[in-house]
Amino acid sequence: MNTQLPIHSLQSKDSFLETKKNQLLAAIYENNFLTLKEIYKAIFTYASELNFLDENTQKLLNQIQLIYKKFKSQFPQPIVTQLAPYNTSLSHLISAAVKKDIHQVRCIDLTDWENRMQLNEPQKNLICKTTMTFQLTSGCSNFCRRCNEWALPGVRAHFSYTAICTLIDHMAQQKNKEIALYGASDPLDWEQDGKTLSDILVHIEKTPLQYSILTKVPKGRQSLLKQLIQQHANLSVSVTARNKPRIEKIQAEIPTPLSRQHDTDDLLIPAGLDEDFSSVKPSITDGYGTEITPDGAFIIIPAFTSALHPFGHKKIPVTARTEFFPEKKTGRAALLVDYFKPLKGYNLNQEACCLDYLLEVQIESILLDTGEYELTPPGMRSVKEYLSIFEEDARIQRKKMTLSVIRHLKKEFLTDSTFNDLPDPVREIYHGKIHQHLDLCKKENCLDAKIHTLSFFLEAIYKYVKTNTTRTKIIKFLLTKESVKNLSEFTLENFEDIYQIISDSRINNFDFFRYMITVLLDKTEHSAIEQFIKTYPATYDPEKDIFVRTNQAQSSASIN
Ligand code: SF4
Repeated sequence: MNTQLPIHSLQSKDSFLETKKNQLLAAIYENNFLTLKEIYKAIFTYASELNFLDENTQKLLNQIQLIYKKFKSQFPQPIVTQLAPYNTSLSHLISAAVKKDIHQVRCIDLTDWENRMQLNEPQKNLICKTTMTFQLTSGCSNFCRRCNEWALPGVRAHFSYTAICTLIDHMAQQKNKEIALYGASDPLDWEQDGKTLSDILVHIEKTPLQYSILTKVPKGRQSLLKQLIQQHANLSVSVTARNKPRIEKIQAEIPTPLSRQHDTDDLLIPAGLDEDFSSVKPSITDGYGTEITPDGAFIIIPAFTSALHPFGHKKIPVTARTEFFPEKKTGRAALLVDYFKPLKGYNLNQEACCLDYLLEVQIESILLDTGEYELTPPGMRSVKEYLSIFEEDARIQRKKMTLSVIRHLKKEFLTDSTFNDLPDPVREIYHGKIHQHLDLCKKENCLDAKIHTLSFFLEAIYKYVKTNTTRTKIIKFLLTKESVKNLSEFTLENFEDIYQIISDSRINNFDFFRYMITVLLDKTEHSAIEQFIKTYPATYDPEKDIFVRTNQAQSSASIN
């Protein structure tokens, strides 16, 4: 597997508004009201100079307005008085954009869409190979209060029927197996020249591509829903207190029971207008892959839902520079992805490869993962769980289980074949798995793996904190309530001190790691940690699925 992808293969620079949103939050958290005032004015000036507000720009402006509303009571009165006209003008500006967009719904054809991103053929192929969400429209006619996607109110753009059919054919040709036909939209909203979602499904059914639909059944779409049911469409209805009477009425008129989701008056995960910008909640995104919307294509990386990522994921825009596409993983398969390891995916030649670094969004998730049980859904591994595999108890337990592990591997590899008949690469994997288990049973190897895992994480955090001042302030604020075990009785004067603590089996790995995070969040320079990282340079080995020592040649430039 090729791990030598250039560093810019998948990095995203925050947009102007994303940066300003974060600066605004940091100023609020620090009670820095003069800075806050300047940032809010800069946001207004920027927005007022734009000729057109695309979907993500409008979502960010909505978030900024909500931040203002949530925290306004904490601002001194003179600041409120000075900002009030800007806030009102920003509201008017957004309302005017909504009005204009809704009255002139844009129809996006494929050439427009592709030209905007300046994509080459390999990129188009990879988008279609890894598409998990195909959002047919921008904006949603339901505008639910609790919208995880912060969908814009009212449909303002849609793909043309021809663009949809061409993209679907391309996805099928790229052997994409299944897509979701929603996102920040309700698929039943889509229409063009008398065609409806029903026509799109007729086209999809001519291909091997599977699809799923989740709808709140927008007002006026009851008969379309009935038509889709007659068509045996794979759809679920999302039921909330608001649309329940409408759904019950439809149900009474049709013989088959509707497949329902979220049938509760109160959805469990607060989002959209409920975001408090002060807490960290589980991710609401259950997949890695690409999202296609009328405004472009975006690589989706799940993240904890927080002030940093109110959507519960990071959207990385696909541009002419994108050279890496993460492997598509959805549902249960996505839960099994360890979010704290470099991502596996494809280069532009569609060869399997793995990044050799963590994306900033992954580092943010590591920093925000306090190990609280509620943060990670069942089936997803937290950093705490991962680090526990290096604890002494776990090592001894692993050693005791060696016979059953080998029995299990034999069953997996040798049920239909003898060892001699296994192809060489499979034989190598079989041997590799046995060796990996045996290695981690040995005390010195287990310690070595632990050191390199911690070194890899600490290096990523060290670099992140140095280069992301604003986002680091937000993270510190979000972690204010975390109670980290105080290990300040240990000196951290040189790398050997850190080594000593890590090798002390009485000290819990995760406690130590969280303590080191607090040290790093407070200090951007720390010579002992820097020494430790340089002494134990680490890299992720995707074949062995473990962090190992980087060979000297690779490591020389890594810390600088
Ligand atoms: S229907 Fe879905 S996308 Fe539309 S506003 Fe409601 S939750 Fe958001």
